[in-house]
Amino acid sequence: MLCRAHGLLFGLLLVANAVAAVETSAATGATTDPQQVHAELDLRLDPQTRTLEGRGTWIVAADRPWTMTLAERFTVRRLAVDGRASGMASRPGNGLREWRFPAAPRARRIEVHWRGQLEPLDATLDHRAVLTHASPVTGPRGSFLPAEAHWHPRFRGGGLAYRLSVDVPLSQHAIAPGRLTGTRAAGGRRVQTFEFAQPESAIDLMAGPWIVQERGFVSADGRHLALRALLHPEIADRAAGDLEAVARYMRMYESWIGPYPYESFSVVSSPTPTGFGMPTLTYLGVDVLRLPFIRDTSLGHEVLHNWWGNGVRPDHARGNWSEGLTTFMADYTYREQAGDEAALEMRLGWLRDFAALGSAADRPLAKFTARTHGAAQVTGYHKSAMVFLMLRDAIGTEAFDRALRAFWRGHRGRVASWDDLRAEFESASGRELGAYFEQWLERSGAPALRLHSAAPVREGARWQVIVELAQDAPVYRLRVPLVLGFKGGSEETRWVDLARERARFTLAADRRPERIALDPQARVFRQLAPGEAPPILRQSMLDPTTVTVLAGAEAAGEALARRLTEHPLRLRPVTAPPPSAPVLLVGLVAEVARYLARNGLPPRPPGLGASAGPATAWVWTLERRGGAPVTVVEARDEAALAALARPLPHYGRQSWLVFDGAKAIARGTWPSRPQQIDLNGD
Ligand SMILES: [Zn+2]
Repeated sequence: MLCRAHGLLFGLLLVANAVAAVETSAATGATTDPQQVHAELDLRLDPQTRTLEGRGTWIVAADRPWTMTLAERFTVRRLAVDGRASGMASRPGNGLREWRFPAAPRARRIEVHWRGQLEPLDATLDHRAVLTHASPVTGPRGSFLPAEAHWHPRFRGGGLAYRLSVDVPLSQHAIAPGRLTGTRAAGGRRVQTFEFAQPESAIDLMAGPWIVQERGFVSADGRHLALRALLHPEIADRAAGDLEAVARYMRMYESWIGPYPYESFSVVSSPTPTGFGMPTLTYLGVDVLRLPFIRDTSLGHEVLHNWWGNGVRPDHARGNWSEGLTTFMADYTYREQAGDEAALEMRLGWLRDFAALGSAADRPLAKFTARTHGAAQVTGYHKSAMVFLMLRDAIGTEAFDRALRAFWRGHRGRVASWDDLRAEFESASGRELGAYFEQWLERSGAPALRLHSAAPVREGARWQVIVELAQDAPVYRLRVPLVLGFKGGSEETRWVDLARERARFTLAADRRPERIALDPQARVFRQLAPGEAPPILRQSMLDPTTVTVLAGAEAAGEALARRLTEHPLRLRPVTAPPPSAPVLLVGLVAEVARYLARNGLPPRPPGLGASAGPATAWVWTLERRGGAPVTVVEARDEAALAALARPLPHYGRQSWLVFDGAKAIARGTWPSRPQQIDLNGD
């Protein structure tokens, strides 16, 4: 249970698209795997006194040494091996204690009693602090004991199947990944038991003052499953709607891939603004759950991770395919269901983000392991999703879906790699796909395509267009869509195979085309040409070479610039001409206008957001010849400039905004102009 909480929090920070969380772990049924560890744990958790007390036995396999670890905050009160008290711990120095057990000829039974104090839950914890999840936290509003906090003895290198009972005050419920096999309440306490055959090394445990609501669900293979909502009282009224959405997603993915692999799925609320996913559940902040895109997107993404990520686990050492496939089959698919426009907007958004990222932060997909999170990795998900989109475009939906179902049948409950996926796509399509995956997984960056020339030629009653495409070396082997446009607005798409730096193609048409465009629907993962990627604010926010120019209200302007940029400010006097690096120009209306005029740059676009009502500040990006984009932030007065400090950093994906105080009253991206050649020239 490790690679999780990925894009969701990052997305919240940026008010960008939310993806959700990753999980681990797998299918039902015990295994005879010699690496497997079987554990029986009994816990008592007291949120008031912040104490955890545990007793457990672990059966570990013969013929190999084992190392057991536990966080130093816990005291071990008993340690016994096959009934005999044992063992001194060493301190490896990372907040853990370590016990070593040499290889033995038979499986051993290790018994541990331990106890310790947990950290107080602080609902105001910073997002980033929560993301490190190094400490177990508890309190009346909720408890979160993440696997990474080493709150129970762990056996390194072993998969863990467990039975876990948790004893909490009656006002609380507990949950852990797996099947709830029992609940009893007595003496002011509640004891719940969970079972999970999970080939991972550790357990996530949560508790809270939840209202529990449940509905049934019959799986595609006829099993009666439980869908549960464990929600804080103030949001308990959303349970029915959330569970209806979960049921809808389960039906969708069961019919697309195969039966849901577990016996339950739970939506669980957290008092902190977190977003985690684990097998059989998702753990989301109370305020996170209220965001509209959670039910529409993130919940489905989470549900799907029970197939990709948990049901079949990625081979982390060789690249994580599960985020890209989940993003493609969840986030992107919901956009496709909403319509062509919405899907195009998402693809263009991904390519614009990639363009804004710059090459320095880019890494090959095969190196993407999703154990930590950041801009480069979020982009990694998007590139990965487009690798699946381009593949479906190439082999067709029928073969693509058949390969996914075969992959599920063949790898369910196991670890699988990109190579295993490729083999299924090859056998479903009858094509050799080694070069395809190699170029997209092993190389960083993306192809840069150019529509070099195009000319129409009459051929009797028909027409031909001779078109020349170019790409930078080293070349990619690509299927490129060329769109012919005709009088009256109709269009025809022709796919061509480009495998060299330059290639010429002849496209036939039964009437004269008026124009030809290169991939106007952004179906190829590539570097957008300048006009295709109109500048967005994020470019100057992320680019460390960005130069800041202050034009009036300098103190407020500098404070705002520091909030906007993710790197040390590079200030340049307002009297100096703008450099070719990206420029962030911040100031008051009159001074900004003078700076733009003096340096031959266009003024604020006329009527920018004028219909939205009275405004106090305007923000826009502008392209310029021979230089990187300029981002302009101008306000009526110093107070209006200062008011942007909180909201503006959240709008990195926009090209322009208009503010009334701290409220964005209008915003948008400049339209993308495809690479296109007019064929009416002669
Ligand atoms: Zn995910």
